[in-house]
Amino acid sequence: MQKELHITGCKEYQPERLKEQIDAHLDRYPEFRDLKGKKVLLKLNLLSATEPERAVTTHPQFVRALTININERGGRVLIADSPGGLFTRGILEKIYRETGMKNVADETGAELNYDTSAHTERFPEGRFIKSFHICDYMRKADLTIAVPKIKTHMFTGLTCASKVMFGAIPGTEKVKYHTRFPDTTDFSRMLHDLTDLCGVDLFLVDGIIGMEGKGPSKGEPRKVGVIISGKDPRAIDLHVARITGLDPGKLPILKAAFKDDLLYPDEELILSGDGEDLKLEPAFKPARGGQIATNPPRFLKRFMINLSTSKPRISIRNCIGCGVCRDNCAGEAIRIVKGKARIDYSRCIRCYCCHELCPHDAVYLSIKESGLARYIEDTTYRYFID
Ligand code: SF4
Ligand code: SF4
Repeated sequence: MQKELHITGCKEYQPERLKEQIDAHLDRYPEFRDLKGKKVLLKLNLLSATEPERAVTTHPQFVRALTININERGGRVLIADSPGGLFTRGILEKIYRETGMKNVADETGAELNYDTSAHTERFPEGRFIKSFHICDYMRKADLTIAVPKIKTHMFTGLTCASKVMFGAIPGTEKVKYHTRFPDTTDFSRMLHDLTDLCGVDLFLVDGIIGMEGKGPSKGEPRKVGVIISGKDPRAIDLHVARITGLDPGKLPILKAAFKDDLLYPDEELILSGDGEDLKLEPAFKPARGGQIATNPPRFLKRFMINLSTSKPRISIRNCIGCGVCRDNCAGEAIRIVKGKARIDYSRCIRCYCCHELCPHDAVYLSIKESGLARYIEDTTYRYFID
């Protein structure tokens, strides 16, 4: 069962079709057939307060269809995520409203989480991290379904099943993990431990419209046309890479899984469903953030970072000096000067949280596309991260 995935083709968020397909996915997993008296946590991707059409967040029609199916099986739904940035009731209200989750809750009776408390859990089995401070909402249900999207990611290459549980870390505490693990592979190894600690019962991917390019929040929506379910988040991400044409060997989230022997690049997965042969043409545009090596000497590392990775830059015209980027900057590299954000590049660790979270599209990336830059990036990758 572990490396088995069920994949169905689904081209649009059409309510009846979604309900029927999600019903069939749930039927495959015995613990979801009868949910009488059970509370089911839907851990969504609610990164920010953006409208569904931008494909940043799990689509409300998908959540609606899933909730109706759970209700019909006798269960109750709790919708939750800790978004990027602050984790307060006011922020959650805004996010639920903008992403369409408030309407879903009003229509289906689903409960929206407003509990922003957290606790520490030890995780002796962790390969890389032995304890995490996680949101209390993670332990308020009998079963958990993670409902990620398929998006490129400037830092981990891909955000889908193995990245979605980062939302179990409360609010701006996420910044500490970026500070602690500036290396993309280390950060991804941490994510795999966190995902295992969370004990998700099922991953159900809203892969109908994904995001390519400058994901997870500033890329372009792209139709993928699938729903994927399975128990193994790494297997899902490997298959997503194969569907989208992203090179698994260049996605830190999968490189970390390969490094810890959680799966292998050429692993044969057990696939079923009418979407098992789907492959996108042309492939997804990757997120070209850059890779930071941790091993080279400091002066060399700084040189390579500057030459081979994209710099976050501030659009003076769009920036309103709100400070969201400063408050989420893992390198403490941002100050607000005369009402505008200013970045100290000597401190910037290229985590791209500022780009991900700026609510005013005021952070853009200067993409390095020169042959020399790409050569250095590839060399850095091969010698220092492999
Ligand atoms: S760059 Fe964006 S997040 Fe940062 S201060 Fe300006 S508007 Fe706010
Ligand atoms: S300036 Fe942006 S990319 Fe650099 S460390 Fe701060 S949040 Fe990360």
